[in-house]
Amino acid sequence: MIQFENVSKTYPGGHRALEKVSFELADGELAFLTGHSGAGKSTLLKLISVMERPSAGHVYINGVNLNVVKNRQIPYVRRDIGIIFQNHRLLDRYNVFDNVALPLVIEGMHHKNITKRVHAALDKVGLLNKVKCQPSTLSGGEQQRVGIARAIVNSPPLLLADEPTGNLDPELSMEILKLFEDFNRHGTAVLIATHDLGLIARMKYKSLTLDHGRLITDPLAQEVL
Ligand code: ADP
Ligand code: ADP
Repeated sequence: MIQFENVSKTYPGGHRALEKVSFELADGELAFLTGHSGAGKSTLLKLISVMERPSAGHVYINGVNLNVVKNRQIPYVRRDIGIIFQNHRLLDRYNVFDNVALPLVIEGMHHKNITKRVHAALDKVGLLNKVKCQPSTLSGGEQQRVGIARAIVNSPPLLLADEPTGNLDPELSMEILKLFEDFNRHGTAVLIATHDLGLIARMKYKSLTLDHGRLITDPLAQEVL
């Protein structure tokens, strides 16, 4: 699903955010991405969603080398990727339905199909009863679940989450992680960036650890363990 080959990223101004990072995430695999603040987690996710470009090395998504993807082709790459942010980035001028529908509207899907898919997505996160609410009237955990519904509404094969539980208490965080596990059991690959080590420890998944832009855990060694 994801393949990094000796990927480095230097931002303008010379700050090296990633240094020769190589790893693979298989189709349907769930893994954590961890490391201190500033370690390069967001940068790594941005390279996958083509919000940033690598300075050296290659990133492959579904076998496609992102280096040869032109800017106008980026929307097609992103259709395969559901992205969940810490602050969920919902639009408060729109209700829950319209927020979740947004990716499908952008794709130009017929409105009958949109309604069906949005309801299915909200059902999966347990929020069908909030379909007409404004995001600001929901609790933090509910808002995050709306963000997740929006990310999965077009059934992407890959989910990326950047500190998805950063603003939630441990109980709600666990709930959100169970949702990710659920999608993963149905075949979705999931990569979760988090500094919540307690959460990771409770789950038996591969974790990739960044330290000042370098990957310090050897995923192969972990598999042997
Ligand atoms: P993390 O998500 O692990 O906190 P980031 O990927 O956000 O780490 O950042 C890695 C490093 O790159 C940090 O030192 C950060 O300040 C720097 N950085 C991130 N984005 C930019 C940018 N757009 N321009 C310059 N430096 C950046
Ligand atoms: P969040 O916690 O919401 O991910 P970040 O602190 O990672 O926010 O960064 C917010 C934005 O600022 C990102 O787009 C990131 O690339 C950019 N950024 C982070 N560090 C720097 C930096 N040192 N210089 C310029 N931009 C940066």
